[in-house]
Amino acid sequence: MLSLEDYLQRRILSKGPIPISEYMQACLTHPKFGYYMGEHIFGEEGDFVTSPEISQMFGELLGVWVVSQWELMGKPKHFYLIELGPGRGTLLADLMRVVKSQKGLKDAIRLYLVELSPKLRELQKSVLSCYNPTWSYQLDQIPHGPTLLIANEFFDALPIRQFQRVKAGWHERLIGLGDRKQHLFEFVLSRFPSAINLERFFPKALEGSIIEVSSSSNFYLRAISQRLIAYSGSALIFDYGYIEDKLVDTFQAVKNHKYTSVLKNPGQSDLSAHVNFTTLKKIGEEISLGRVEVVTQREFLYTYGIEDRVKSLIDTATREQVSNILLAHQRLTGLNQMGELFKVLILENREVE
Ligand code: SAH
Repeated sequence: MLSLEDYLQRRILSKGPIPISEYMQACLTHPKFGYYMGEHIFGEEGDFVTSPEISQMFGELLGVWVVSQWELMGKPKHFYLIELGPGRGTLLADLMRVVKSQKGLKDAIRLYLVELSPKLRELQKSVLSCYNPTWSYQLDQIPHGPTLLIANEFFDALPIRQFQRVKAGWHERLIGLGDRKQHLFEFVLSRFPSAINLERFFPKALEGSIIEVSSSSNFYLRAISQRLIAYSGSALIFDYGYIEDKLVDTFQAVKNHKYTSVLKNPGQSDLSAHVNFTTLKKIGEEISLGRVEVVTQREFLYTYGIEDRVKSLIDTATREQVSNILLAHQRLTGLNQMGELFKVLILENREVE
């Protein structure tokens, strides 16, 4: 096999058009050619910048959250601190600096990282090895016990499927091959209507409407909620997403901080989709967690004291650093910026079944 393009073309030639989820999964996580198997993907020099990479304040405020949750849990002797998809490990490195100052807390933490990219695991090791983390491929491989879990820009990377409303009903949007010679990827609709009864959920959807379904996201949220129900704890899921059902296509590709075609150069750009926070919230509610709430990133960071943190960083900063701190504050909390585009799903449970 020469490239991911080659692999995907062969799959489609032998099987017919494939679901977007299969294409997305291969593009992001194929063991040899997947996008996350590279290492220069985050930060100003990479393809996109995430909140912890914008400023140390993000991880530090999550450190404040960990301290407060640990106290609310009654300071358990041991608990699991889990991050899903830790990228370069920046968030946890900043978080642990805050946590270290609390007597008894650092020793109570069993740190687990859910990460499948070997290169990113190496990067994480270089900044977090002093906290003895354990790596895992799946949440259910982590031993059971009280848990604090964090995920930032993890759910948007989980595969989605799309369905489109046409005259005759809902059909799945698949990826097939167009042009016979060049075998370019293109979207096609499934020949037969979907077996999933989407009409029941969206009876008023207009022709052309698209809905997105992410079974992997739903599966993860169920697994997190069940863990919290059984052993108590809390989780924070940060991502760009929506809180009212959207009937549009949010499948996107980013390369060098710019949008690009999802169908071109598979494995070379970051593919993602907006997170459906309504569905995730419903799953948490069905499992009857003590608290299930979605707030904006801005509200969350203000609650955990970003303004005070900005002030104290400025106190000891040079003039150039001051403008960087103010800019970072604006990017993280600004209206029409990450402050509002990003939401946080908060899950909490203290009553154990
Ligand atoms: N949280 C980091 C990185 C976000 S990018 C930050 O905010 O900077 C997504 C991360 O999730 C990467 O570390 C990627 O390798 C990891 N990832 C993506 N899909 C995954 C999966 N199915 N299982 C485990 N890790 C995954």
